[in-house]
Amino acid sequence: EAVAAATAAVQALRAARTLLHDEEEALGRLDAVAGDGDHGRGMSKGVDAALAAAEQARDANAAPAALLGAAGDAWAADAGGTSGALWGAGLRAFGSALPADRAPEAGELAAGARAALAAVTSLGKAEPGDKTLVDALDPFVTAFEERLAAGGSPAEAFAAAAETARAAAEATAGLRPKRGRARPLAERSVGTPDPGATSLALVLGAVAATAGP
Ligand code: ADP
Ligand code: MG
Ligand code: MG
Repeated sequence: EAVAAATAAVQALRAARTLLHDEEEALGRLDAVAGDGDHGRGMSKGVDAALAAAEQARDANAAPAALLGAAGDAWAADAGGTSGALWGAGLRAFGSALPADRAPEAGELAAGARAALAAVTSLGKAEPGDKTLVDALDPFVTAFEERLAAGGSPAEAFAAAAETARAAAEATAGLRPKRGRARPLAERSVGTPDPGATSLALVLGAVAATAGP
């Protein structure tokens, strides 16, 4: 069962890797509007390192928490940049909510998502509306919890929440950035969605479309 959870985590990271390499240039262009243009490259480097670390941990029969912790650390170390540190902390926190010796229950997946959001906001101090990836992650977590509470399966709840995140990321176009490198050029950013919110929503959608949680 824990083996199945490790396999699911590796599959999800593979889906993320394919997506992020396909979107690397587009994400870089988004980040170049008011930031420094490196978001696409950073996400590609981060996910490559995370997938390699996850595969190594799976081959060593690591528990899901250790696997996602190693993946998160590798992501943060190799991505560079603000979003890499946040993705690393989020993955590690998500894993910490998962059981060691059996497949996670729906409630544990929801607790993991909530823990990831807490880790990201504790590290980055962004609040909803600051035009960061929190603007996609926060509504994702709430929608995931609500769909599970309404009786949806983890896969259904995840897919619905990923769609919520996609709409929320798109809606960041109307916001002015209050955090990160885009803040000094805040006015230039209006009309363009936040790069980190966009990449997060794309990853969630790709994971929902392939492996599911
Ligand atoms: P950098 O800004 O260091 O070049 P990236 O370009 O990889 O890093 O990532 C930029 C993204 O990081 C932003 O679009 C935003 O979503 C996210 N971000 C920046 N600062 C914060 C923060 N304090 N909290 C949450 N997310 C943040
Ligand atoms: Mg950048
Ligand atoms: Mg940078």
